[in-house]
Amino acid sequence: MIKKAHIYIVVGLLAAAYFTSNTVIRRSRPKNIIIFLADALRYDHVGCYGYDKKTTPFIDQKAAEGVLYENAFTTGQWTITAVASLFTGLYPFQHRTTDLYEDGTADALPSGITTLAELLAGGGYKTYGFYGMTAISHRLGFARGFDLYAGNDNYSINDYSRLAEFKRLFLEYKDEKKFFYLHFQSPHEPYGDIDEAVKEKFRNENGERVNSYPYGEDLPAKFSTNPVFARYNNIGECMLGYDEEIYLIDTFFREMWEFLERMNALEDTLLIFCADHGEHFGEYGIMGHGYIKYEETTHIPLIIWDFKSGIRGRVKEAVSLIDIMPTICSRIGIEPEKGGHNYGINILKRSGLPSKRGIIAEQRIPGATDGLGIVMYRTADKKLFLNEKDNLEYMKIVNGRQEPMNDPSDFVPEQKVFTELLDYMRGVYYKARAGDIRKLDKDELKNLKELGYLQ
Ligand SMILES: [Zn+2]
Repeated sequence: MIKKAHIYIVVGLLAAAYFTSNTVIRRSRPKNIIIFLADALRYDHVGCYGYDKKTTPFIDQKAAEGVLYENAFTTGQWTITAVASLFTGLYPFQHRTTDLYEDGTADALPSGITTLAELLAGGGYKTYGFYGMTAISHRLGFARGFDLYAGNDNYSINDYSRLAEFKRLFLEYKDEKKFFYLHFQSPHEPYGDIDEAVKEKFRNENGERVNSYPYGEDLPAKFSTNPVFARYNNIGECMLGYDEEIYLIDTFFREMWEFLERMNALEDTLLIFCADHGEHFGEYGIMGHGYIKYEETTHIPLIIWDFKSGIRGRVKEAVSLIDIMPTICSRIGIEPEKGGHNYGINILKRSGLPSKRGIIAEQRIPGATDGLGIVMYRTADKKLFLNEKDNLEYMKIVNGRQEPMNDPSDFVPEQKVFTELLDYMRGVYYKARAGDIRKLDKDELKNLKELGYLQ
């Protein structure tokens, strides 16, 4: 049965705890807020998360100055779901912006939901968003609250122009409060579509290591005819191209960081580095992203630099993209929406985070108009999973990989919370579509086809 009251009390207590701690610690507020997002960057291909290749030398070097979240997760299997959560602090079953349909329609952010950019604009921030899929972002409501939300809809254009535009606007509004959402489309597939000079630098830096990719491994049969992947001969080629693009991201990050240093603006910046979701390279027979069962898609890097507070370190507790909005709001003294339904928390607390916290990710089943679809529930070291057949699966996380468990007796407290949450979700979930349905136009559909999302 639905135990809504119980869930509300727990959430309420958490909210009370973090607001109290924040009122005690008075820190000066950052003038600049930057979210730097690398599309499809899985956590274990980042050096400071333990990767054996040098993909992110600059970020690795700076990670110790920030807070690195070892167990950070997305909320869905692809960009739209994840960005909607990042922009609203809400789970997919709340924001409902998750799907594209065969008939060329999509669910957009319901108008009653306040976005991060809207809150920041209300707090006196100039707000700029740069993301490649501009038209569809507008269509889905992601541009709401931004003074300017722009990019380039042609995926083949690289991310350089975004960084140049960021610098131009930063200089123009140097003395004002500013929020930048910088969504870099590297390392999203297609892999390795970048300047030869960057590739060469990556290969030089990694030396013999570039020979260790799985060049002998074929693509899973299901994907080898997909035009997005068919251009690669083997999994090793895909991975090398992917890592080269991560390396490019690192150079962008460095360029941005050094620019902020030159502007004497770094100390006055709250800087968030994250991904929207991860990527598969043949693990479990999957390429790309699109299935939330596994760590490859759900586990993302997240590092926050809050120079003014001086908070730094590595955090093991489970955190989610839904935490970014309440963290920013809390840090600058704006209260996120009230209403008892916000599961996101401020994760820049000095007093530590709830250790038993579980967070969820969701994936709709195409065509389904009732039921929950697929749902992940992840704590720092365990995972429960509601599969397509509505059955629970139990997993432990060992060395960053999940291992199925047949004996659920170790999962009693997690199962209790998860099933209560599932009951609650069933009560409010997609009995009908959200109501903010948008018809996509020809160019938007073409763009999504190029990215492999539609056939
Ligand atoms: Zn994405």
